[in-house]
Parts: sequence; C-alpha cells; structure tokens
Amino acid sequence: MDSEAFRQWSLKAAEWGVDYRDGLRERPVRPQVEPGQVLASIAASPPEAAEPMEAIFADFEAKIVPGMTHWQHPRFFAYFPANAAPVSVVAEYLVSAMAAQCMLWQTSPAATELETRVVDWMRQALGLPEAFAGVIQDSASSATLAAVLTMRERALDWQGNKSGLSDAPRIRVYCSDQVHTSIDRAIWIAGIGEDNLVRIPTGGRFRAMSPEALESAIVEDRKNGLLPAGIIACVGGTSVGGTDDVAAVVEVAKRHGLYVHVDAAWAGSAMICPEFRHFWAGVEGADSVVFNPHKWLGAQFDCSIQFIRDPESLVRTLAIRPEFLKTHGRDGITNYSEWSVPLGRRFRALKLWFLLRAHGLEGLRTMIRNHVGWSQGLAQRLGREADFEITSEPMLSLFSFRHAPAGVDDLDRHNLALVEAINRDGRIYLTQTRLDGRAVIRFQAGQFETTEADVDQAFEVIVALARAEGEPAAN
Ligand SMILES: *Cc1c(COP(=O)(O)O)cnc(C)c1O
Repeated sequence: MDSEAFRQWSLKAAEWGVDYRDGLRERPVRPQVEPGQVLASIAASPPEAAEPMEAIFADFEAKIVPGMTHWQHPRFFAYFPANAAPVSVVAEYLVSAMAAQCMLWQTSPAATELETRVVDWMRQALGLPEAFAGVIQDSASSATLAAVLTMRERALDWQGNKSGLSDAPRIRVYCSDQVHTSIDRAIWIAGIGEDNLVRIPTGGRFRAMSPEALESAIVEDRKNGLLPAGIIACVGGTSVGGTDDVAAVVEVAKRHGLYVHVDAAWAGSAMICPEFRHFWAGVEGADSVVFNPHKWLGAQFDCSIQFIRDPESLVRTLAIRPEFLKTHGRDGITNYSEWSVPLGRRFRALKLWFLLRAHGLEGLRTMIRNHVGWSQGLAQRLGREADFEITSEPMLSLFSFRHAPAGVDDLDRHNLALVEAINRDGRIYLTQTRLDGRAVIRFQAGQFETTEADVDQAFEVIVALARAEGEPAAN
C-alpha cells in the first residue's frame, strides 16, 4: 500500500466508523447468523496474487459486519459494557499508526511516562491513596494472574519461580463463591490448583463472603500445615454484582499476614463518583486492585488498570532482565514490561488520556449516574408487574429478574427461552445467569450512548415478548 492509498483508505475507514456508529440503532444488537456461516463465506486458501483494496473492503462490509455483535449498540444490555468512546477510538487510530512496542522506557519514553501520569490521574479519580502505583494491563485476567503470582512468591519467600512448587507447602488462596472465572484460571496457571482455591460462602443483600468463615478457613488451613497466601475480594461480581466487605477482608488478612487483591473489574469505574465508594470501603488497605477502564468508563478495549501498593513485590515476581533489555546507566526509569506477564505492550495510555480530557470526570460521572438511575428505574418498573420477579436488587446498574407467570411449571426453561426470544428479536441484547440454582435474566445499562429512551424500550421489549410467547419454550 503506497502512501496515497494509505491516506485514502484511512479516511475511508474513519468515515466508515462514524457511519457505523450513527447507524447502530437500526441494526439488531446480536447478529442473525448460524454457526459456520461466516467461515464458509471466506476463501479456504490464502490469495497468491495481490487483491485490490476495493474488493477487500467490500468483503469486510458484506461478510464480516453482518456477523458482528454490536457491543457499541446503545441497547446492548448483556454481560458488562465494553465501551469505546469515540474519542478513545481516535486515540487508537493514532496508536495503531505509530505501532510502537512499549515494553521498556527506552522503547517509547512518552508511552511509559504518559502511562505513569494517567494511571495516577485514575488513582486520584477513584479516591485511592497516594501509596498506590499502577500499571495498565491488557485485561483484568492478566492483572489477577500477576497478583496471584505475587501472593504465591511472597508466601514462598520468592522461591517458587526458581524451585517450582513440587517441594513447596500447599498454597491456599481464598475468595467468595461469586468471583469471576479469571480467578480460577489465575490459580490454575500459577500452579496452585483449583483444590486450593477456597470458596467462602456468601450471604446478605450483596452476597459478601462471611469474614468469620474466611478467618476460620485460614486458621484451619494453618493448623493442617497448609500455606495461606492471599485473599481475592470481589466488588461487583459478574453474575449479579456480588460485593465483599473489603474492610472486613483486609482486617482478616492483616491478622494473618496475607496479600489482598480486589477485583473491581466492572464496578471500579463507578468509583469516580464519591457516593458509590462505600461499595469498596477499606480498599486502601488492599495490596492490589484491578479495574477495567475498557468496561464502563469508555477507554476502548484493552485497558485494565492494576493499582499496586508495593510494586517492588510485583517486579520481584515478574521481572526478567536479559542483557538486551537492560537500559544501562538510566536510573529512576520504569520498564512496565516488568510489571506484567507479556513482554510486548501496546500503548494503552493514550486513549485513556484522550478520554479523560475530552469528557472530564464530570462528564463520565454523569454517564455512570444516569446508567445507575435508569437501571434502578427499570428494576422498579418490572418489579411492579405481577408476572415479573426481581431476583437480585440493583448493584449499581446491574440487576436480575425473571418472568414468573402463573401456570408455568418449568420457570428455568421459560426464562432461558425468553432470553433467546429477546435476543433473536434483536432490539435489545440480554444474558442469563444462575442464581441460587435458578435461571435468571441479567440486565445492566452501561453503554456509552445509551439513553433513557433505550432503557424504556428494553422494558417494552421484555414485557411484550414475555407475554406474547406465553410459553416461549414451545417454539
Ligand atoms: C470482566 C470481568 C473480569 C475479566 O475481565 P478481562 O479484562 O476480560 O480479563 C474479571 N472480573 C470481573 C468481576 C469482571 O467483571
């Protein structure tokens, strides 16, 4: 591609992006494709000869776009949001054009220093104490893996990386029964093993783990010669927003010398609003905290911030310093690849810098407050309908419900069929979860462009489809 063509197609791509965003409300949120349909439409072998960009672009529009789930759709109410505010997309165009590897300070000083600065902006925005430094990881899964490796090494007096775990005491990590599967995988990959992830039962309105049960599990394990290493607290769990009492968890951890990692991947964004910070009261006592600006805040994927109280312990766990990576003679510089599992790193700070400046914290707070208010309004409206039941009250902008009309025996089947009917309809997109053994439907409002009218439309679609189908499973 010569420079003139690069210009032409870059402009075309940018225009396409704008039209795409403008037209999203007209598209079904979830694509109407069968498994294998896209695969079958793509040539089975790579081209030997160069093809014209016109043909490539036309195929993108004809074959790819209709098979996409539109995560930036204003009526995307499934999972959690993966917001990409337009300004963060613009920043990504620039990052993509420069295409730098930002693993060391010297491989892009500006990327490193901007990362230091915007991570600290976020620390201030969330009301975290100055003692926290931070790094932008690719995902919360990576951040949690880094935290689990750190708690393991700390518990093994930094011998695990060298000697392996075969002669080490059995390491134990504690969490609630509401945590994300990324915790399980971090435990597997760290060699600790699922059997040593101790799940403490939860209770109460926010499904918090019991600090008493947590403490007895630790004491019991110690008595049995096991090695408690750390606790993972959950703030805003993926299923229904399960939230631990972080202050109580930190207190238990302090008594037993354990590391505390807080997973607030989704809910962390809401902490820019002071009135929501009670949900993680005590967080200042944690050793690390992860939250994803790429979820609710609007920094396009991927952008996950891990705040760390003692970066030295993380660097001690993850840094390798082969000769070719050494930056001789430069003191006081940060090489962020020593803070994460992958070596190569994208320049992720730019989109966060653009986002925070273009919207200001006040703009982002307004968005989050609107989402929370609209979700709560929807939960109230649905709760007033006799055939609907709110199965978990809103945690910020997330709640769950089920349709429970009289005369339907298998409510699980009924509700799973209802979700499928709603998603096939395409005007909104929802996902289901299991709560206390029952199938329930999740709702969260969080997309950057969502309006109150979109949430009203969700009410209409849910109620109409639930009642129209009577027994949706029959179709
Ligand atoms: C989304 C989510 C994760 C995983 O985030 P990734 O960045 O996709 O790895 C972990 N924990 C919670 C609570 C989440 O909501």
